[in-house]
Amino acid sequence: MSFHLDPQTVYVSLICGHVLTIVLLSAYRRSESRDTSISIFFTAKLLQAGAWSLMLFKESLGDLTVISLTNTLLFLGTAFESAALLRLQGALTPRFRKMGIFVTLTAILTFNGILFFYNHEVLRIAAASIFSALLIAPPALRLLIQRQAPALRKLMGSLYAFLAAAFLIRASAALFAEGPAALLAAGVSHNLFSISAYMTMMLANTGFVLLAKQKSDEELFRLASVDDLTQIWNRRTFIYKAEAVLDQYAKRRLPVSFLLFDIDGFKSINDTYGHDIGDRVLREMSAVVSRQLGPDDLFGRYGGDEFAILLPSASRAESTLLAERIRAAAEGAYTLSIGALTFVPEHRSDLDRIYKCCDMALYEAKRAGRNRIQRAERHFEAPETREYDYVRI
Ligand code: GH3
Ligand code: MG
Repeated sequence: MSFHLDPQTVYVSLICGHVLTIVLLSAYRRSESRDTSISIFFTAKLLQAGAWSLMLFKESLGDLTVISLTNTLLFLGTAFESAALLRLQGALTPRFRKMGIFVTLTAILTFNGILFFYNHEVLRIAAASIFSALLIAPPALRLLIQRQAPALRKLMGSLYAFLAAAFLIRASAALFAEGPAALLAAGVSHNLFSISAYMTMMLANTGFVLLAKQKSDEELFRLASVDDLTQIWNRRTFIYKAEAVLDQYAKRRLPVSFLLFDIDGFKSINDTYGHDIGDRVLREMSAVVSRQLGPDDLFGRYGGDEFAILLPSASRAESTLLAERIRAAAEGAYTLSIGALTFVPEHRSDLDRIYKCCDMALYEAKRAGRNRIQRAERHFEAPETREYDYVRI
C-alpha cells in the first residue's frame, strides 16, 4: 500500500465512531429506558472512547501510564460490551456475570503485572489479546448457536467470532512470530489491521443499535398479537394467521378443520367465585387446551369465553377426536361446548362463513345440554350460509 495510516488518525477515527454511537444511544435511551442492555452498551462505548482518547496523550502522560490506563479501560469496555450483548439476548445470568467479572479482573491484574514488573511487550500483547478473546467469545457463541436466528443476529455472531479469532491470531503472532501468523505482526498489515478495527467497531456499534431495535419491535409485535390474559393469539392475529393458512390450503385443495368452543355457564363462575377466579379459569383452560395441540395448529381467543382452533390438514375424524380430547381434558370444575367443521377452503375470506357455521353448531350443542361436540357441516353446505346470510337458529 502506498499510504500509511498513522496511529493518531486511527485513534481519532475510533474515538469519533464511539462518540457517534454515544450520541445516538443517549437520544435513543430516553424513550427506551426499560432496556438495560442499551445502558450497559452505552457505558462500554464511554469506556472505549475514553481509552482511545488517552492514546492521544501518550507523549505528555508517559508511555507506561497511558498503556496501563488504556488497556484497563479497554478490558472494562469489552466486558461491558459483552455483558450488553448477553443481556440483549436475555442470557446475562448470574453465572455469566460472575465469570465476566473474574475474567476482567484477572485480565487487568495480569496485564498490569506484566507491564509494571517485566514490561515484556510480547507477553503483554499476548495477554491482552487472549483476555479480549475470552471476553467476547460468550456473546459470539450465544448469537451463533441460536437456531433459526434472524440474519442480523447471525451476522453479529460471526463478527464477534471473527474478532475473537483475530485476537487469538494476534496473540500467537506475538508469541510465535514465525509462519503465517507473523503476517499480522508485520508492518505491512498495519493499514489492514487499522481499517479492520475501524470497520469492526462501526459494524458492531450499528449492529447493536439495530439488534436492540429488532428486540423491542419483537416485543411490541408480541404484545400486539397475544391475548394479555391467556397468552394465546388474540382475535386479530388468529384471523390474520388463519386466513393465510386458508389461502395456502385453498391453493393446494386440502382440507382444514375449525373448532369453535365456549365455556359452559361461565357467567355463573364469575358470579359465584368472582372475576379473578373467572380469569384464572380462562388462563388454565387455555393452557390445558394448548397442551393438546400440535405446533402447526392455531389457537386464539375470539373474545370473552369463546375460543377458536384451526387445524391444518386435519380430517373430519381427526378433528372430532381432537375436539373430544379437548372437551375431556377441560372437564372438571367447568365444561366446554364445541362446534366443529372440516372443509376444503375455496378462498381466504371463507373464515367469516366458517365462524358463522361453527357458531350455529356451538349454539346447538348448548341447546342440546352443553359439554358436547356438534358438527357444523350441515350449516356449511346450506345455501343460506353460502350467501353469508347468517341467521341464528
Ligand atoms: P353459556 O353456557 O351459554 O356459554 O353460558 P355463559 O354463562 O358462559 O354465557 P356467556 O358465554 O355468554 O358468558 C360469557 C361471560 O364471560 C360474560 C362475561 O362477563 C364473561 N367474561 C368475558 N370476558 C371475561 C374475562 O376476561 N374475564 C372474566 N372473568 N370474565 C369474562
Ligand atoms: Mg360461555
